[in-house]
Amino acid sequence: MVEAMSQLQEEKSQLQEELVVLRERLALHDSDQHATSTQLQNQVENLKEKLISQAQEVSRLRSELGGTDLEKHRDRLMVENERLRQELQELRAQPAAPCPGCEHSQESTQLRDKLSQLQLEVAENKGMLSELNLEVQQKTDRLAEVELRLKDCLAEKAQEEERLSRRLRDSHETIASLRAQSPPVKYVIKTVEVESSKTKQALSESQARNQHLQEQVAMQRQVLKEMEQQLHSSHQLTAQLRAQIAMYEAELERAHGQMLEEMQSLEEDKNRAIEEAFARAQVEMKAVHENLAGVRTNLLTLQPALRTLTNDYNGLKRQVRGFPMLLQEALRSVKAEIGQAIEEVNNNNQELLRKYRRELQLRKKCHNELVRLKGNIRVIARVRPVTKEDGEGPEATNAVTFDPDDDSIIHLLHKGKPVSFELDKVFSPGASQQDVFQEVQALITSCIDGFNVCIFAYGQTGAGKTYTMEGTPENPGINQRALQLLFSEVQEKASDWQYTITVSAAEIYNEVLRDLLGREPQEKLEIRLCPDGSGQLYVPGLTEFQVQSVEDINKVFEFGHTNRTTEFTNLNEHSSRSHALLIVTVRGVDCSTGLRTIGKLNLVDLAGSERVGKSGAEGHRLREAQHINKSLSALGDVIAALRSRQGHVPFRNSKLTYLLQDSLSGDSKTLMVVQVSPVEKNASETLYSLKFAERVRSVELGPGSRRTELGSWSSQEHLEWEPACQTPQPSARAHSAPTSGTSSRPGSIRRKLQPSGRSRPVPV
Ligand code: ADP
Ligand code: MG
Repeated sequence: MVEAMSQLQEEKSQLQEELVVLRERLALHDSDQHATSTQLQNQVENLKEKLISQAQEVSRLRSELGGTDLEKHRDRLMVENERLRQELQELRAQPAAPCPGCEHSQESTQLRDKLSQLQLEVAENKGMLSELNLEVQQKTDRLAEVELRLKDCLAEKAQEEERLSRRLRDSHETIASLRAQSPPVKYVIKTVEVESSKTKQALSESQARNQHLQEQVAMQRQVLKEMEQQLHSSHQLTAQLRAQIAMYEAELERAHGQMLEEMQSLEEDKNRAIEEAFARAQVEMKAVHENLAGVRTNLLTLQPALRTLTNDYNGLKRQVRGFPMLLQEALRSVKAEIGQAIEEVNNNNQELLRKYRRELQLRKKCHNELVRLKGNIRVIARVRPVTKEDGEGPEATNAVTFDPDDDSIIHLLHKGKPVSFELDKVFSPGASQQDVFQEVQALITSCIDGFNVCIFAYGQTGAGKTYTMEGTPENPGINQRALQLLFSEVQEKASDWQYTITVSAAEIYNEVLRDLLGREPQEKLEIRLCPDGSGQLYVPGLTEFQVQSVEDINKVFEFGHTNRTTEFTNLNEHSSRSHALLIVTVRGVDCSTGLRTIGKLNLVDLAGSERVGKSGAEGHRLREAQHINKSLSALGDVIAALRSRQGHVPFRNSKLTYLLQDSLSGDSKTLMVVQVSPVEKNASETLYSLKFAERVRSVELGPGSRRTELGSWSSQEHLEWEPACQTPQPSARAHSAPTSGTSSRPGSIRRKLQPSGRSRPVPV
């Protein structure tokens, strides 16, 4: 028993020891558990912190290098891309002129630099991303390690629990066997029971602790699960980020591709432009080379010429050296020769001047003689064509015919009888203005030599006086042609003579002289003797215009016309009742001799010569007729007196003759153009006009053949000759039968028109 007891005791102590060991081990296990849990907690904390920092890092990366930066990058690239595209378009739009290649290459290097910069940045970003990935991988590895260790710990703990529970079961079994033993043993059992309750308590405590540990492990598991979830979400985030990065990379790649394409096309453009420029340059170069070849050949051909030129030049140089001496010598001899020549020329000049003056005098004399032979007073007739105004019927039939062999004869059929007249010249209706002018132009040029000339247009109204003198703008008459001729003649002589041509225009109506170019055309002008005692006449206040061109003449004529038109309502009628005078004065100075000449050309469109007195006109019409008759008969008187070389010429009997006194007397020349209407109804007026013309012409035909028919003036009433006012010379009064055969009618009408007796002519 004792043995059993000791055995039990031993067992008990053994058990106690084992319990102590168990306790110790439990404590160890506890502390171990605690340490593991703290370690795990720390690890979890660490992981949490790392996760937070990782998240922060990710967001930082995102903000710094991530999406935003890449987006910015992408935007920047897109902007850059757009700019490059525009530049490319501009480049394409530029003409294919020689491309500034350097600019292209600069741009391309810039673009290349930018691209490499961008590539660097991308590589940096990639590096950072891979670092981040590595870090995430490391953290994942560590997490797996921690998980593994946690699993080991849990397995160890389970084994320990198993072992403890097994031991506890063994103890229970031992206790139960002990209880089934004898009383001493009971005691022991009791003790053991007591001891066993303690053990039980310790066991329950350890169980409770175990429970607590299990709870903690469950909690740890929970935390681990959460961490796993966090890790998972972190993985997802990382995957998302990777996807974004891949997307950005793809975009970057695309932009890079685009940029490369753009660069490629730019490069192509540049190459094309360079090629074109190169081709052009080659063509130009070729042309230049060809030119150069031409120039070279020219140069080769020029070289011999140059050599000869150089030789010539050297020769000339040598000559030039000796030239001053030669020149001086030559100059001396030339001077002597020139002096001699000048003397000779001077002598010759003097001789020539003398001869020239003599010739001039001779020419004037000859001209005078010629005109005198022709007759100082020449009479020509001009028959106008039949016009619409002549009407139709027997009255409008032609009454005038011509001699085909003699252009000085005109035949008129008057009241069924043919009457013939001989004048200096007769112009048929077919004659042009130029034909008529040719006949008078010798007279006009004599005006330049200092002669006074009068050209009268005489005839009934409507016979063509104004047409012959003024003409039409398209076909001008004597007035304008005369001035044109004067201009051209004066210009021809311009080297020796200096001429001035002045023009005045006047009108005589009812014996009142008016200035047609004056500011006051109504003003009456008077004819006065020059106060210098020269006996010359002048008209104070008569406007004189200097003319130098046809334009000037036209202006003067226009001005005269305007004055006349504003003055009179019926100009046609008025002009047929008044005498219109154009007075052209030509003053010349001989540049070499200083000789002065003055010639006057009077172009007179006379008032209508028709006999109005017959129709029994009254009032102002009668007064007009009287004045016209008076002035025309005065003109006839003056011409007759001049032709018959009478001592007294009755110039003062009318304003017209008085005004023209200078131009009618002396060696002046007069031309009378008798205008004739060809129609039957005007035959009697034509007859009178032609009679007047023939008589004027026949007054003087040169000294030996002077024909005087002054007695026949009476055939035209207003030119009736009144012996009382003249001192007729017998020779000048010798009658010769007029060709017309018309009977003379004594001056009854003249007396009727000028009843109060004409004022006696005052000698000039
Ligand atoms: P006058 O001045 O004598 O009264 P005009 O000169 O006014 O006469 O002439 C009268 C008309 O006859 C005008 O219409 C004019 O144009 C015309 N006439 C006169 N002579 C000619 C001619 N030679 N050729 C053509 N028409 C003429
Ligand atoms: Mg007229």
